[in-house]
Amino acid sequence: VSKYYVMGEDVVFALRGVNLQLAGGELIAIVGSSGSGKSTLMNILGCLDRPSHGRYVLGGLDVSEMSAEERALVRNRLIGFIFQGFHLLPRTSALDNVELPLIYRGLKKAERRRLALEALARVGLAERVDHLPSELSGGQQQRVAIARALVTTPPLLLADEPTGNLDSVTTWEVLSLLQDVVQEQERTVLLVTHEPDVAQCADRIVTVGDGRILSNLRNQSPSNARQLLPAAQERRGADAH
Ligand code: ADP
Ligand code: MG
Repeated sequence: VSKYYVMGEDVVFALRGVNLQLAGGELIAIVGSSGSGKSTLMNILGCLDRPSHGRYVLGGLDVSEMSAEERALVRNRLIGFIFQGFHLLPRTSALDNVELPLIYRGLKKAERRRLALEALARVGLAERVDHLPSELSGGQQQRVAIARALVTTPPLLLADEPTGNLDSVTTWEVLSLLQDVVQEQERTVLLVTHEPDVAQCADRIVTVGDGRILSNLRNQSPSNARQLLPAAQERRGADAH
């Protein structure tokens, strides 16, 4: 897949012939310096943008030639998004935020509620479903966003710097959730990160540079995020004193 942008007289190459296969049941970290093409790659994988050249096949569907409407449908059916800034609706409860993607699917209210409550319980927020985002910590807001991404049970989850705004305790909480999702449900989770210790939690680390894939390596011994949690909690406790 290639992607270029025409800027007046200039052509900016964001991706220069990228070849990537993603399997189910894998947590993949995309790393690389700023401007290397990570977001462009995520946007194409997320069907938010189309390649200039090449093909992107998702779950057997060639999405490279689809119209914007068709891609919107594919996103709703097959992809969950998690963002660095959470992107929750501010004046809307956690429960209503999580129900939102189910409204687009045309599910009835009772069924939406049941699935949203289940997803919020899954991320440990059963007691917070009526809270507004402003009444939740950053880590809790990101867990609401994860519940919203999980509620439609998409086979592909895309997370662009999901822990970029979080402290280390909440970083490992979020990562352990993502690791659980991959292991329990054979889903694919792809995350962009600048943090080497976050990348070490992935099963595969893809390094992007100058619009190319520089390396694509299986991680022989991924870190278990849940095991990193107690030490981070201890450090936070020590800092507080
Ligand atoms: P990263 O996410 O790794 O920082 P990006 O994918 O955002 O990198 O950008 C890769 C390259 O493509 C950069 O040189 C960037 O300036 C360029 N680029 C990205 N989006 C656009 C756009 N919409 N128009 C023009 N150039 C762009
Ligand atoms: Mg980026």
